[in-house]
Amino acid sequence: MNIHEYQGKAVLKQYGVNVPNGIVAFSVEEAVQAAEKLGTKIVVVKAQIHAGGRGKAGGVKVAKSLDEVRTYAGEILGKILVTHQTGPEGKEVKRLLIEEGCDIKKEYYLGVVVDRGTGSVVVMASEEGGMDIEEVAAHSPEKIIKEIVDPAIGLQAFQARKLAYAINIPNEMINKAVKLILSVYTAFVEKDCSILEINPMVVTGGGDVMALDAKLNFDSNALYRRKDIVELRDLEEEDAKEIEASKYDLSYIALDGNIGCMVNGAGLAMATMDIINHYGGEPANFLDVGGGATTEKVTEAFKIILSDAKVKGIFINIFGGIMRCDVIANGVVEAAKQVGLDRPLVVRLEGTNVVLGKKIINESGLNIITADSMADGAQKIVDEVKKIS
Ligand code: ADP
Ligand code: MG
Repeated sequence: MNIHEYQGKAVLKQYGVNVPNGIVAFSVEEAVQAAEKLGTKIVVVKAQIHAGGRGKAGGVKVAKSLDEVRTYAGEILGKILVTHQTGPEGKEVKRLLIEEGCDIKKEYYLGVVVDRGTGSVVVMASEEGGMDIEEVAAHSPEKIIKEIVDPAIGLQAFQARKLAYAINIPNEMINKAVKLILSVYTAFVEKDCSILEINPMVVTGGGDVMALDAKLNFDSNALYRRKDIVELRDLEEEDAKEIEASKYDLSYIALDGNIGCMVNGAGLAMATMDIINHYGGEPANFLDVGGGATTEKVTEAFKIILSDAKVKGIFINIFGGIMRCDVIANGVVEAAKQVGLDRPLVVRLEGTNVVLGKKIINESGLNIITADSMADGAQKIVDEVKKIS
C-alpha cells in the first residue's frame, strides 16, 4: 500500500526525522490559506499523487508570493500529471502539499528496501540525489552505497556513519545525517514498510539535514496490525478493479495486455501469464481466485475481468485439487450467464472430476472453448484474440 508524500512526512516526523513544515490543501483557496499560515517568504506547491517524478512533470513549483501560490495551485490541481512512474495515462492531482521553501545546499539520496538478493533490509545512499537518481542507478551504480542490515540487531550507528561519510555529507553535519538515517530505518521497521525512500535528503544553508521528499510503501500482509497506516489509504489513487477484487479476497493486479486471466493459485497464475507470453499474447491481469473459489467468487472475478475494456478474450486455467472441476465449471457457466459473455472464453480444467467439469461446460450452450492443456489453452486464446484485433 502506498501513501502520499505529506502523509509519509507526518509518519517520519513521529520518528524525529526533520521535515519542512507543510499543510495539505484540497482547493486553491485552501492552498493560499496554507501558505499564509506557513508565513514563509517562499513556499513550494507540490502535487500529491501516488507516483514520483512530479518535479520533472511540472508538479512541484516554487512560489515567491501568495499570488504565485494561487496561480500554481490553480494550474496543478485537477491537472493530469504524466510522470515516468504514472504510465502514459497519468494521474489527476486532487491534493496539494503547501510546504516551506527549503534553502537547499545539496541533494542526496536515501533509500531503505527489502533486498531479495541478501534476504535483508538494505540501506542505500548516494551523493547524486535528486531528480536524476534513475540515471545514476542505470549508468553509475557504483555511486549508490549500500549497507546490509543484520535483522537481529538492526541498523547500527557505525553503518549509518559509514554511509554519511561515503556520500560526502559535510563533516559538521555527519551527526545530524546519522540521526536521520537511523530514524528512517526505525520508521521502516516499525511501520512494516517495503520501501522507504527519501529523494532528496538535503543539507540546508542553515546547517540542517532534512527529508524533502518521502515515498513510503507498506507491506500489505502487515496492514492488519497497522490500523494507523490503513487510515491513510487514498482509494482514489488505486485501481478501481483492484479495490473491487480485494473486497472478495481475490488477488488481482491490472496489467497492460488484452487477455484476461482467471487462475487458482499464485504459481499457476504466474505460469499462465508466462505461457500466454510464450505464444505471443499479453495478459491483461494477474488474478488468483484462491483455493476455495466459490461460484460467487468466480462470478465477481468474471465481472472484474469483463469490466476492463482492454480485455479482448479470457483464459480460465484452473487446477481442481481441493476444488472440484465440476464445481468450478458450474461457477464459470453461472457467471457467464449472469454477466453475459461477449468475448471469446477458453477454459482449461484439470484435476478432480475433470470429465464432469468439461461435460458441464460443453453442455452449457454457451460459446466456451475447452482446452486440454495449458499450452493448448494459451494458444487457443491467443489465436482467438488475434482473429478479432
Ligand atoms: P519528485 O521526486 O516527485 O519529483 P520531490 O518532492 O522530490 O518530487 O521534488 C522535486 C524537487 O523539488 C526536489 O528534488 C527539490 O529540488 C525540489 N523541492 C521539493 N520540495 C522542496 C521544498 N520544500 N523547498 C525547496 N525545494 C523543494
Ligand atoms: Mg523526489
